[in-house]
Amino acid sequence: MFIDEVESKLTKQFSNIDNVCYFNSKKVLDAFRKNRVSDVHFNSTTGYGYNDLGREVIESVYADIFKAEDALVRNQFISGSHALTVCLFALLRPNDTLLSITGKPYDTLDEVIGIVDNDSSLKSFGVKYMQVDLVDNDFDYDKIKEVLTNNKIKVIEIQRSKGYSTRKSITIDKVEKVIKFIKKIDSKVIIMIDNCYCEFVTTKEPIEVGADIAVGSLIKNLGGGIAPNGAYIVGRKDLIKLCGERLTLPGEGKEVGPSLGINKSLLQGLYFAPSVVASSLKTAVLASCALEEKGYLVEPKYDEERADIVQNIIFNDENKLIKFCQSIQGSSPIDSHVVPVPWEMPGYQDKVIMAAGAFTQGSSIELSCDGPIRSPYIAYLQGTLMYPYGKIAIAEAIENIEK
Ligand SMILES: *Cc1c(COP(=O)(O)O)cnc(C)c1O
Repeated sequence: MFIDEVESKLTKQFSNIDNVCYFNSKKVLDAFRKNRVSDVHFNSTTGYGYNDLGREVIESVYADIFKAEDALVRNQFISGSHALTVCLFALLRPNDTLLSITGKPYDTLDEVIGIVDNDSSLKSFGVKYMQVDLVDNDFDYDKIKEVLTNNKIKVIEIQRSKGYSTRKSITIDKVEKVIKFIKKIDSKVIIMIDNCYCEFVTTKEPIEVGADIAVGSLIKNLGGGIAPNGAYIVGRKDLIKLCGERLTLPGEGKEVGPSLGINKSLLQGLYFAPSVVASSLKTAVLASCALEEKGYLVEPKYDEERADIVQNIIFNDENKLIKFCQSIQGSSPIDSHVVPVPWEMPGYQDKVIMAAGAFTQGSSIELSCDGPIRSPYIAYLQGTLMYPYGKIAIAEAIENIEK
């Protein structure tokens, strides 16, 4: 079969993915052992959520995995976007300036920052925003230096994954290089990383390369498909304290927040995460190679270094994008009989088509595919909890778009 032939060419890529998975599995296991994770941690609190032992151990495990001073890992975060929002509102004050150096941030942050007007935006509180675009998929070092020299910047945001843009995602080596460059110019500026989709794709995470704070979603990589919701923030202790006080309330911060029965799921999801990320990466590499052989434009290519689990297929054709997403939905475990159509999603400016036949609503570490209905009609393919299901879906999608 075509898909088996493609797969047989990918032994080198798959073996690299397995090696990274092994490394990250060891990292997770070591953090569990160091923190003496035990079944008492599966217990839960209600109400205020004081002294939630499970919640505390989870945050300590996350801090260790990221080599961070502290962590905030909460089911009270609705999504990754919510955690990014909490982080931005926690760190920025009126008259402060936020600088993005990876171009326009993720679509859901438009109204948070005030790029699109909203009475609750950072802009409405007097927080200023500046942006430096990427050039040729890398940082614009000259522009960054110019902006930092002529302005007082409080927070720099680096979004690693491409979101719904056409650029490449940013590898940890590039993040390391730019952080060194920035800290030489301004050692005080807070560097905040949107780490969504990048966790466990390689062996290093942002705090290890000098970032001050990093944010991600638990219905992506680190939830391992088991976490029912939530997000994490890791980083400097003083900054995590601010985030805790913004999420809950000043004076109580991280001390409150009932886990409502999810501690075991967060721990088990994290335990699965290295392998689940590996399955997603294998599916992405397979899709990249197979679709390129069929004549489609893909990004990244199957043999390129990856920074995240997202695979783009650039269809340049609205109909093909829709058919591809519909086929992925048809190859999903939940709602395989449902046909997705483009719709106006809250927080997004264009119509979006979403294949999301997932056990957890909106979970994109599970097999999922989406794309805004705008040229060049790119499908953003993510996930699969287990590789064989990803392989089935890619084989079926190739058949269906060619019909
Ligand atoms: C997914 C994602 C987010 C946040 O997504 P939620 O759907 O709100 O969890 C933020 N930034 C990037 C780059 C993402 O990929």
